[in-house]
Amino acid sequence: MDLTYTDEQKAFRDEVRAFLADKLPKRLSDKVAGGKRLTKQDYEEWHAILNEKGWLGVNWPVEHGGTGWDAVQRHIFEEETTAAHAPRIVPFGLNMLGPVLMKFGSEDQKAHYLPRILNGDDWWCQGYSEPGAGSDLASVKTTAVREGDHYIVNGQKTWTTLGQYANWIFCLVRTSKEGKPQEGISFLLIDMNSPGVEVRPIVLIDGEAEVNEVWLSDVKVPVENLVGEENKGWTYAKYLLTHERTNIAGVGFARAGLENLRRIAGLEQSGGKSLIQNPFFAAKMAQVEIDLMAMATTNLRTIAAAAQGQAPGAESSMLKIKGTVLRQEINALTRQAVGPYAMPFVSEALDEGSNVPPVGPDYAMPATQAYFNNRKLSIYGGSNEVQRQIISKAILEL
Ligand SMILES: Cc1cc2nc3c(=O)[nH]c(=O)nc-3n(C[C@H](O)[C@H](O)[C@H](O)COP(=O)(O)OP(=O)(O)OC[C@H]3O[C@@H](n4cnc5c(N)ncnc54)[C@H](O)[C@@H]3O)c2cc1C
Repeated sequence: MDLTYTDEQKAFRDEVRAFLADKLPKRLSDKVAGGKRLTKQDYEEWHAILNEKGWLGVNWPVEHGGTGWDAVQRHIFEEETTAAHAPRIVPFGLNMLGPVLMKFGSEDQKAHYLPRILNGDDWWCQGYSEPGAGSDLASVKTTAVREGDHYIVNGQKTWTTLGQYANWIFCLVRTSKEGKPQEGISFLLIDMNSPGVEVRPIVLIDGEAEVNEVWLSDVKVPVENLVGEENKGWTYAKYLLTHERTNIAGVGFARAGLENLRRIAGLEQSGGKSLIQNPFFAAKMAQVEIDLMAMATTNLRTIAAAAQGQAPGAESSMLKIKGTVLRQEINALTRQAVGPYAMPFVSEALDEGSNVPPVGPDYAMPATQAYFNNRKLSIYGGSNEVQRQIISKAILEL
């Protein structure tokens, strides 16, 4: 298997680099590199820049306004944008709903919603999880009862990321209690401005409220907002999850985190020398770097296989575990590196233009927030324990 780039791929990488040098606003890359809080407007600004270039629908086909890139091009784009500290592309409309609509949506749904996703007219959020339905997603209880040309929806979704910014939510709802739980689920598009929709923030351990509860009380949803067929939502939900799990290893994020750690360890002092010269700390960093190199190679193997049309198998579970554990380890080492400055958390200092100074050096300010925030990595997208179950069954055949 050839893991080196072809001349064409190298030329594409240069094109992406040139674009980023020219179009990525320094204001945004400074915020990302400095671990500052990004606003809704920041994400929208970056989406609009990518859309103007035709590079927002990274994994969309050309016929729907996407790039039509192959797996290697997508990987190069991902590597270069994270290395340049670009904001991430918010995945809910682009990486999750878009592909589902293209495959299972009606012609009207495609014509209406897909351009609006690219143009930033709609901000989507994902209404899968419920208090009793996370890993065991088929247990969703939110009901949608057909009454004439509407469904009446009642229930509660939870952990809805950036739901506070969204005007639409795609939901898994129960339309039948017959048969297996998977057989009574439908996939419904709900306008969050409808009467009966209430968004309540959940404050996480890092002090941020990036996730929400979404309460649905007698919400009237037109039947044309059903995607595909009634009670077939499980099939669409699973298809969406395969797209949610692309770039699962997060190699670019790990590299950016390690680079930041290396810079900090070069600046921090330990026993009269820089921390990076401390053999114990240097050994921990070296271990992370070795693990990262090994993971990056495995990742390239899966990309090479995908480029040849092979579907990723259980190795995506390995990448999910390795990638998330690695990023959490980098967060932990960064906290260690900044020592006592990891303790004070001045939330306001994360806002652009805030006149509240951080305690300690600038680079120490986001260390603890990032450490706590990234606890989520091993929970969402299929928890690491669930991934281990997949490995034990599919690879180890236990
Ligand atoms: C920050 C964050 C953002 C999120 N954003 C969204 C979103 O936008 N939209 C959305 O729909 N959901 C979202 N989620 C929800 C996420 O998908 C669920 O948290 C995840 O599926 C786990 O479900 P749960 O929290 O109900 O935990 P549970 O499923 O109750 O699991 C509890 C514990 O049991 C373990 N466990 C469960 N089943 C098994 C098993 N079979 N074998 C071994 N161990 C098991 C789990 O690993 C975990 O440690 C988000 C979650 C977080 C933390």
